[in-house]
Amino acid sequence: MIIEPPSFPQTDSARSVLDLAVIGGGASGIFTALRYAEMAAGKRVAVFEKSPHFLQKVRISGGGRCNVTHACFDPRRLAENYPRGSRELRAAFHQWQPSDTIEWFGRFGVELKTEADGRMFPVTDSSETIIDCFLDRAREFQIPLYPKRPLTGIERLENENFLLRFEGLAEPVEARSVCVAAGSLKNSPLLEQLKKLEQTIVPLVPSLFAFNVNDARISDLAGVSHPKVSVRRDGPHPARQGPLLITHRGFSGPAVLRLSAWEARALAETNHHFSFVIDWLPDCSFEEIDGRFADDRKHQGAKLIKNTPISPIPRRLWERIVLSCEIGDVTWGQISKPAMRRLKEELKSAKFQAEGKTTNKDEFVTAGGIERHAIDFKTMESRLVKGLYFAGECIDMDGITGGFNFQAAWTTAHLAAVAISKRSA
Ligand SMILES: Cc1cc2nc3c(=O)[nH]c(=O)nc-3n(C[C@H](O)[C@H](O)[C@H](O)COP(=O)(O)OP(=O)(O)OC[C@H]3O[C@@H](n4cnc5c(N)ncnc54)[C@H](O)[C@@H]3O)c2cc1C
Repeated sequence: MIIEPPSFPQTDSARSVLDLAVIGGGASGIFTALRYAEMAAGKRVAVFEKSPHFLQKVRISGGGRCNVTHACFDPRRLAENYPRGSRELRAAFHQWQPSDTIEWFGRFGVELKTEADGRMFPVTDSSETIIDCFLDRAREFQIPLYPKRPLTGIERLENENFLLRFEGLAEPVEARSVCVAAGSLKNSPLLEQLKKLEQTIVPLVPSLFAFNVNDARISDLAGVSHPKVSVRRDGPHPARQGPLLITHRGFSGPAVLRLSAWEARALAETNHHFSFVIDWLPDCSFEEIDGRFADDRKHQGAKLIKNTPISPIPRRLWERIVLSCEIGDVTWGQISKPAMRRLKEELKSAKFQAEGKTTNKDEFVTAGGIERHAIDFKTMESRLVKGLYFAGECIDMDGITGGFNFQAAWTTAHLAAVAISKRSA
């Protein structure tokens, strides 16, 4: 699949200069190179990838289906899905947004479909479709892709070009523009190189993770899902809504992942040991629950409370909630006022303790990275180093789950490619 790199670089005196060197062969790096090649015919671009394989995260993304983007076409609303980078991306989405992504893939025969929740996948339900499309285009545009070539050094030359050193290449590579698309900078040796270029790095913390919870209320309920809960960190903090999944280790699902993203920094400060509150019936006020209880007392007074769940709480979970309120084999007709109060409290604000986190197999990202203020989001060029560009997850920018992270990768890659093609015109 890999395009044979030409034998380069040559000797120092005859060093061939790249117009663009892309660092990182993931989603944003490959897309930068492809968009650049489309716009700057005849210019020299190459991609240098640390690992033996390109587009590894695309391959495993979306459970192997690749959630390419999200069917949200209003830049303002789309930007609301980014805990970090929302303001900058809002403007950027006016230049490249999901409709452009859909159109671009469509141009190369990759059709995307929309699921009920707005997530978009290739109709083949396979991330290989996206990878094949990218690698076919790279071959078509004759873009050399260098595997096993981690960047180890970057310095500025007097002529304002960059001199890049890679593991496994005896000679350095000279490039007029460099686009860093190296993904998460957590534990990355690149950090030192970037600091030398005076780029400021916002501390790196995980985002999009599940909560580890050891609690009798959910033991043995792994696999049970609830269509809509509201979750918030204990205290006066904003709540996040969505489906919830009980796992072997605790809680996951969109509501939990959203909270983990929006509160990524605060939760990291607790070392992921914190208390949080679940509202099992976010669409029901206390008064409405009183009404439901009154109805049940009137119409199903002889039935055991634990056997008559309030919709949409799943039956097994309902039974645990009822038992946790010390309401055993009690019928609706027999329930006491204090028991009703306890049940209502538990339904609206059940408190849990998280003891660590688990990264989700479908999606996780790093919050933090290259400081956004140091990047001109019209061009993705560093405000500190002319000719140095950034795209994708290495920037302090991340979205919630749903295809938003890839969309940010496509958008920033496109902006960088446009700007670099103008620069090298
Ligand atoms: C399991 C999982 C599933 C996901 N699913 C989805 C999904 O369905 N939808 C969605 O929107 N998002 C998803 N994400 C998030 C998404 O994968 C990332 O946001 C996206 O890959 C970021 O693209 P990137 O190119 O910036 O970084 P990456 O895809 O991580 O690519 C960066 C590349 O740079 C290389 N690199 C690093 N350092 C160097 C160096 N020094 N020299 C050369 N190369 C280097 C890396 O090896 C890597 O190949 C998922 C993430 C995970 C972990």
